[in-house]
Amino acid sequence: MRLHSTSDNKVTADFRTAVKQGLAPDGGLYMPDSLPVLPDTFWVDAGKKDIASVAQHVFDTLLKDDFSDAERKEIVDRAFTFDAPVVSLDDTFHILELFHGPTLAFKDFGARTMAAILSVIAEKEGEKLTIVTATSGDTGAAVAHGFHKTPGVEVFVLYPRGQVSPLQEKQFTTLGDNIIALEVNGTFDDCQRLVKACFSDDQIRAQKQLSTANSINIARLLPQMIYYMHAVSVLIAEKGSGNPIVCSVPSGNFGNLTAGLMAHRMGLPVDRFVAATNCNHVVPDYLEEGEFIPKPSMRTLSNAMDVGNPSNFDRMQSLYNHDHEAMSRDIKGAWFDDFQTQSAIVDIWVKHGYLMDPHTAVGYLGCREYLQEGETGLVLATAHPAKFPESIEKFVPGALETPEQLKRLADRDKKSIPVSAGIESVRDAILRVV
Ligand SMILES: *Cc1c(COP(=O)(O)O)cnc(C)c1O
Repeated sequence: MRLHSTSDNKVTADFRTAVKQGLAPDGGLYMPDSLPVLPDTFWVDAGKKDIASVAQHVFDTLLKDDFSDAERKEIVDRAFTFDAPVVSLDDTFHILELFHGPTLAFKDFGARTMAAILSVIAEKEGEKLTIVTATSGDTGAAVAHGFHKTPGVEVFVLYPRGQVSPLQEKQFTTLGDNIIALEVNGTFDDCQRLVKACFSDDQIRAQKQLSTANSINIARLLPQMIYYMHAVSVLIAEKGSGNPIVCSVPSGNFGNLTAGLMAHRMGLPVDRFVAATNCNHVVPDYLEEGEFIPKPSMRTLSNAMDVGNPSNFDRMQSLYNHDHEAMSRDIKGAWFDDFQTQSAIVDIWVKHGYLMDPHTAVGYLGCREYLQEGETGLVLATAHPAKFPESIEKFVPGALETPEQLKRLADRDKKSIPVSAGIESVRDAILRVV
């Protein structure tokens, strides 16, 4: 697969290089030069297959020049180890549950695939890789689990002391082995700054081959196309292809929606998408008014979507050649405040006995707003409600059941290395641990 930068399409790379670099050298994001349209038979077959087989077929198509058959199989076997079932609330609303992975959020798909790809590259090239990543909670957990016990790769997760939930902290500080948590005496912004500082630090670079695992890596988007393809095919197999399908995506940095749009380019039979956000609604505003105005982010109940300047917007623009009209034909914007989110969680529980986390509830509301008579709604459920016990217990007391993945964490001990918010302290920690 050949890729180019969203800033300049003359800046190009092959897939391996793009994954290792993360960001293109000109600061743009990598996008595939072309995405093949899959034949009609694919969509019929995909509805009868499991998600791993669909992933294998798509990766074999897209990455045939980049990895051997055995390598592509290894990547899929390592990344696609859990299901993404479609649960129907009624005839109209269907929930695509993306939270059955080790950290109970959809980010497991992207993080595990990226980890599998980077470790295949490291193995082949005989390199040892050091991943340095900053997290405000969820990404760190998904990345840490994705890379846990991967030979040849060590991972440093920088996180702000006291500013991630106790549950999130346990998800990446209790793994051990090749996962090292650095507890930074500072903010999330400090952590991000320190990751950048590592990349320009001569002493670290002399001893370590650094790579990032941030959300802009193209390796995270490819696997996210797969669950759209699988779920839509399953819906069509069940209901026939008569009803137009509307796909609602709770969004923050818009990686998930971008993956859906890429799948659409490959023929995903979806009529339109809903970009559902909380009060951080710069993309819904753009879709409505045609102007993109980044804003400082605001805190909400659906905190993984508290993003004021979504990093994947450039990719969306590039897919539509900056044509606002074309984009707003395919994507409808919708946003909801915390009170609406909370009410939706309660309503759906009362009406359907189904518990949604705050992010998924925003997606559900977006779907409800744009669904017309006779259409089929597919809502992406991005996290398990048990990840947000404080909110859920308050709104629907007693409804929450704790899944195995979280129960297991309870008796594990936290291990982290405290560091100050300066590069010296972080460098010492990174270079001392071998
Ligand atoms: C990261 C995240 C989102 C937002 O996904 P984007 O790809 O950044 O738009 C939504 N819900 C949950 C639970 C998340 O962790």
